[in-house]
Order: sequence, then structure tokens, then C-alpha cells
Amino acid sequence: MVKLSGKSVYKGIVLGPVAVLKKDDQQVKRVKITDADAELGRLGKAGEQAREQLKALYDKALKEVGEASAAIFEVHQMMLEDEDYLESIHNMIRTEMVNAEYAVAVTGDNFSEMFAGMDDEYMKARAADVKDISNRLVRNLTGQQDLDLASMEPSIIVADDLSPSETVQMDKSKILAFVTVHGSTNSHTSILARMMNIPALVSVPLNLDEVHTGMKAVVDGFSGEVIFEPSEEICQATEERVREEQEKLQLLHTLKGKENVTLAGRKINIYANIGGVGDVGYVLENDAGGIGLFRSEFLYLGRDDFPTEEEQFSAYRQVVQTMAGKKVIIRTLDIGADKQVDYFNLGNEDNPAMGYRAIRICLKQPDIFKTQLRALLRATMYGNLSIMYPMITSVDEVKRIYEIVDEVKAELDEAQVPYKVPEQGIMIETPAAVMVSDDLAELVDFFSIGTNDLTQYTLAVDRQNARLDDFYNPHHKAILRMIQMVVDSAHKAGKWAGICGELGADLELTEEFLKMGLDELSVSPSMVLRVRKAVRESEIA
Ligand code: PEP
Ligand code: MG
Repeated sequence: MVKLSGKSVYKGIVLGPVAVLKKDDQQVKRVKITDADAELGRLGKAGEQAREQLKALYDKALKEVGEASAAIFEVHQMMLEDEDYLESIHNMIRTEMVNAEYAVAVTGDNFSEMFAGMDDEYMKARAADVKDISNRLVRNLTGQQDLDLASMEPSIIVADDLSPSETVQMDKSKILAFVTVHGSTNSHTSILARMMNIPALVSVPLNLDEVHTGMKAVVDGFSGEVIFEPSEEICQATEERVREEQEKLQLLHTLKGKENVTLAGRKINIYANIGGVGDVGYVLENDAGGIGLFRSEFLYLGRDDFPTEEEQFSAYRQVVQTMAGKKVIIRTLDIGADKQVDYFNLGNEDNPAMGYRAIRICLKQPDIFKTQLRALLRATMYGNLSIMYPMITSVDEVKRIYEIVDEVKAELDEAQVPYKVPEQGIMIETPAAVMVSDDLAELVDFFSIGTNDLTQYTLAVDRQNARLDDFYNPHHKAILRMIQMVVDSAHKAGKWAGICGELGADLELTEEFLKMGLDELSVSPSMVLRVRKAVRESEIA
């Protein structure tokens, strides 16, 4: 039994099997061999296994995401047969008498570098594929399990760290909890864990070589502890606590259908945050009044190319249709910072959180922006859709956005494509936007305060840096005063203001928010009924 402590991201408790997710960039050792034929035999077997894995992945992707996305696995199968690639590996094994893992890893690196240096964009993109293939072969050679999420039983995912694009690709029904060695409590991966209603621990001092897929563990998000191979006694006690938590949750669910109103009659909207179409179920299950933040950039993550206008339109339409007339606020793409996507070619930045991200990309590359705007405007015909723009710092940015929106409207008019004029609002998540919120309020229909970034920029604390978690204090007076200032600016101009950052779900502040006059709190779906309970118990008039 091994007990370790980390930082808890979501309070929940679970007992289940572990699935270790190892990163692809594994350390491969050079080992001298004496029998080259035997080594080539091992390589042959690993290749055979890879072919079977890729075939299964192709079939699964074809069924679930269609031919275009499945094609990548066909490309991988072809690369696996590439004569130059195989010859290079064989040659190294025979002439240098080294282990197959090493020959594969070195050849993979060489080929990947060669592709990356080519002018042709298609060939450039193959650099990642050849790396992927080589990693797969090395995994097969070392007997590491390729974590097959499709056939995996629901498990506790244990990893070094997880990026938003890795998390977003996972089948949520297969995840019982997350435990990671790195990661901060304010990262997007943590936000996803909260949305999925599952216990999650980050910054757990764990040696990944000492845990393996299949072993049992308890993840306790209340105490921030994970226990590997727990004793029978602990298992029984955990099962009892899981039952208790479920009962509490059921009690909370009696609040479904009830109003968000204080004992003194003050009402507030409680909406939910989502990252994709698949999350709408959580919104309905928890009886949120609408969607206050749809992080549309998640549609762009975990893929090889931009989502088309049709793909986006279909996602937006599905969400607004399912919400059946309830408000759905879709934020335009907020790529950049920790949400990196290779095909955007954003390049390395010393300080990506303050870099080329979100609305800045949209204003500099209006073609990307216009595709999304067309999809959004078309989807207005199917429900109650509002558009929200992230990372605003000035009035001029909003004016420029409106010019681009007008161009898109004119194009749709010209093509006789119907749309309704949506409500348009902005996120207030930079100190600059707070300071000019009186001017901004004249231009927009609403404000939604992004306290995650507002805290990062106001306190000069990188929200991704786990070492700074103790300094990341959204309760800081500076933040609370800013929120009040934004609400006052909105109301003076007759507009509404809400919070869609994680602070909106902070039950210690619910009364304060009511006092401040906030009109809406948009929180992760799992927090909707908890916030409703706090509102209904409050006496604020
Ligand atoms: C925020 O910054 O508070 C916010 C809601 O946006 P994100 O967390 O996606 O940056
Ligand atoms: Mg933000």
C-alpha cells in the first residue's frame, strides 16, 4: 500500500483500477546485442502488432469520427511498410549491433527531422506521424501496453501531465479520476476534470515506473490523497464513503426544477460551462438555466487540421437545438497559451499566456475567424445563441470585430443564407478591459468575467505554474473590486454582467456575488445545483 498526497482539483472519491498513460517521448537506452537475427525477429513481431493496432484504430475512428479523421491511421500503416524507414532500422541493428528499440528511436528522430525540414506542408506534417509510428514500435518492443481507451474498463488515469488536447480526446465514460505528477489546479485540464464531475489530483509526487495498469487505487479528492493497492479495510471504508457521496448528490438533485432565488426574493441566473457537444448532457442533468460559456476552441484541439465551417455549424446547431431555446453563449476560439494546436503553427513564444492567442489570432488571421463566425451566425436559426469574444483589451478591438462580423453578414446576405442577429458580448479577463469597462459597456450586449485569466494577469501569476498555486488568489481584494467595477459599468449602460471563470462556483463568495449585483454565474455543470443551494439559503435582498 502506497499513500501519496497532491493538490485536489475536484472533491469526489473513487475506488477503481489504474490505467497508466505514459508519454510518447520515452527514454530509450542503447544496448549492445550479440544476435542481430533475434533482434530483427523482435522487430518483426512488434511491427506485426503495430499493424493490428492501427487497423483496429482505423476501424474505430471510421465508425466514430468518419473517414477523413480515420485516414491518419491508414497513413501510419503505410509508413510502417516504408522501405527506406525499415532499411535504416535493419541496417543500424546489423552494423552497429544495437537493440531494436534504439535503432527504431534513432531512425524515427532522423526521419522526423528530415520531414520537418522540407518545404512541402504535407511532408512537414508527416514529421509527427513518423515519430508516432516509432513510438508505437518502441512501446511494442518494450512490452508497454498501448493504453486502449476503447476497450478499457472505467479507470483512474495516472499520467505525468495531461494537455487539454489529450484530455479532450478521451472517452469520458472510461475515466473515474485523474492523478498527475505535474499540472496546476487552475489549468484547463483541471477545469475539464471539474466539468466531468470526477475526483482529480495534480502535483502528486509519483514515480510512474512504480505504478502499473490494472493495479487498484483510491483517489480521495477531499483529502487530496491517492492510495495505491489499498488494504481490504480501506477498500470497504471507501465503498461506504462513495455510497454516502452518492446519497448527498441525490439530495442535491431534489433542487432540480427549483428557482435560483434567495429567501428575500433576489434572483440570479445559474448557467453551465461546456467544452463540446458531448457535455450538453451534463448541463441538462444538472438543470442549468443555459450555457454561459461554450469553449469552442475545444473543437479545434486534438485534430490535424482546422474544423470546417460545416463541422462547426453542426456542433453549434446541435448544442442550441438540444438546449431548446435556453441561452447558449458560444465563445469564439481561444487558442494559444496552454491550448496549443500544431496546425495553427503558432511557433514558440517565451510567454505564450501574454502572446499570440484568442482574439489576437482572429484579428490577425480573419479567414479563420470568418469561418467560425459564418458557422455561428448560421446556427442562430436553431435556438438562442449568443456570441462572446475572449481576451479583449480595448474598444478598438471590439470595433474591428464588428467590422469583420458585418463583412460576414454581408456575405451571408449575398448568398441568401438566413441568420438572426445574435446578442454579442465580451469576456472581461484582462485588467485593461476592467479599466475601460464603462466604454466597452456602450458597445456590447453583456460582460462575462473570466476570473481565471483575470487573476493571472492582475496578480502576475502564471495560472499554469504549479509552484505558484499558493500565490494564485482569486479572493484578492484587487479581483473582487474589479468584479464590482465591471458589474457597475455594465448596469450603468443597461447591460448584464456575469462570471464564467471558476470563481463563479466558489460557494464562499456566492453571497458576495449576489450583493455585488451579478446577474449570472456560469459554472461547471457539477456545481450548478450546489450554487443553487447556496443562493436559496441566502438572505440577500
Ligand atoms: C477565464 O479566463 O476565466 C475563462 C473562463 O476562460 P479560460 O479559463 O478558458 O481561459
Ligand atoms: Mg480565459
